[in-house]
Amino acid sequence: MLVFIIYLLIFTFLLGAAIGSFINASCYRVHEHLNIKTGRSMCPLCKHKLSFFDLIPIFSFIFLKGKCRYCKEKISYQYIIIEVLTGVIFVLYFYFFGIIQVLYPTPLNIIQLVFYIFIIISFIYIALYDFLYLEISNKLMVVISVVTVIYLLLLYFMGFTSISYIFMHIYTAVIVGAVFLLLIIITRGSGMGGGDMKLAFVMGLILGFPSILFVLFLSFVLGALVGITLIITKAKSLKSTIPFAPFLACSIIFYIIFNQYILHFLNYFYLL
Ligand SMILES: [Zn+2]
Repeated sequence: MLVFIIYLLIFTFLLGAAIGSFINASCYRVHEHLNIKTGRSMCPLCKHKLSFFDLIPIFSFIFLKGKCRYCKEKISYQYIIIEVLTGVIFVLYFYFFGIIQVLYPTPLNIIQLVFYIFIIISFIYIALYDFLYLEISNKLMVVISVVTVIYLLLLYFMGFTSISYIFMHIYTAVIVGAVFLLLIIITRGSGMGGGDMKLAFVMGLILGFPSILFVLFLSFVLGALVGITLIITKAKSLKSTIPFAPFLACSIIFYIIFNQYILHFLNYFYLL
């Protein structure tokens, strides 16, 4: 059993790394208005088409010593960081949560597994895209909202939740969106942007109350810590924009992986 679980975790890491590689390529392709589905991957510097050997996540980067095989230019560390990070997130998710869903594939477990993996992949993509280009895709926000509503309706029709639970998620989304709008008006758009507001709305829809409070609190703490560090080390000035979506994404992924422990912890302090 233990050996089986170890193999499963290794497989999970490699699967995550491959998806991380796909996220890297998608961000680049979407930004450059290239087709995501067709068209072969190419070196972003010399535009040489990449062979299968160049596309193995992590290993290609190590074997090629972080350089393109054709033009010998350095490949950004972003590629391997996202691959390893996605692999690690997948392993953590499966270790703390997904393994039960895989070992006991009830309809509820399967639906939750598919939904949470979709959310994790989407938020890694959102974080990377916002980090690179300071932009959050409206189309993706709509897709995530629709998928979340379908997921909630599925839970309802299968008898796992009530209709008032779905409405609670919708109210949460609207209230969180409104609070962010207010923040944008008060700060005159110098801190948060419209993209962050839409993202907060979507996160309210996914998480509902009170989970969203924990996730937003964690995002602001993370954002403040990183922001202060960057200003102290003079990497950024007070006026420069620091994308906020990566902090929101980190927090929601952290919550999805550790939610049983977080709920336990909040219960312990009578916060729920
Ligand atoms: Zn190249």
